[in-house]
Amino acid sequence: MLALFAIHSSNRFVHVTEVERGLACDCRCAECGEPVIARQGDVREHHFAHSSNAQPCASSYESDLHRFAKRVIVEAGGLAVSVNTAAARALGLGDDLGPCVLLTCPSIEEEAVVGNRRPDLLAATTTGVSVGIEVAYSSFCDLQKRRDYEDLCLPALEIDLQSFTPTAFNVGLVEHALLKDLACKSWLWPERLEAVELSPEPPADPPSVPAPQRHFLPEEIVEVRGRWISIKELPSGDIAIKVVRYDPDVVSVVRTVARQHSGQYRSAYFSWVIPRFRAKAARAQLRAIAAAV
Ligand SMILES: [Zn+2]
Repeated sequence: MLALFAIHSSNRFVHVTEVERGLACDCRCAECGEPVIARQGDVREHHFAHSSNAQPCASSYESDLHRFAKRVIVEAGGLAVSVNTAAARALGLGDDLGPCVLLTCPSIEEEAVVGNRRPDLLAATTTGVSVGIEVAYSSFCDLQKRRDYEDLCLPALEIDLQSFTPTAFNVGLVEHALLKDLACKSWLWPERLEAVELSPEPPADPPSVPAPQRHFLPEEIVEVRGRWISIKELPSGDIAIKVVRYDPDVVSVVRTVARQHSGQYRSAYFSWVIPRFRAKAARAQLRAIAAAV
């Protein structure tokens, strides 16, 4: 396959239509690092060729498209998304939003590992919420991946780029799809609130405070018998409680408190997740235990 992308001397991952013609493109092969020539003739599809005339290196269009998409979002520092009520809450945004929100992300990491997921991008919004961003071309997130995001309480967005085949690739249109278009984006988690509210687990107490709050507490440590218990508020408003260093007695204290507050054990994270409508009470109880011993 012809190479459509290369690395510019500025280290930018570029498409062949973004650079000057010939050696003036100032690029090297993304696979082997050899200088390349941008061929932008009238007959063949525009592409990069090794300056030595060597055969083109094997490359994958799909991974190149991912890499390009990541560059665009990182450079823009955010993207427009559509938000349903559930997504707005998970993102710590108010309920009175229009259907389109510009998600500004002061920090965006590539290929960061979160639990057992590694989204293409992990963005932190101005409200301090982490959001996973997945770019999809030929393979899309399945139910298991959605469940992983649900378990992590990590809002995650999937961007569908399948219409941008190698011949249909156009820098401006791909940028528009990534940054401005809403139709190609869908939330992997949270799903629409209506679906969540129909779930078979009715809350034991009426949720008096519409959680989550805009500014959630990242982590609180309470100390019981010299051992630390971490209480982390998740973007959804639920809290995750875990014993930082294993101690059977302290684990048993946490288990007892968690069970009293409808906690569910997440073995992959060694933590108990307490639903948001019990979070305040569970936190207060742990603080009281810490103060008493
Ligand atoms: Zn090469």
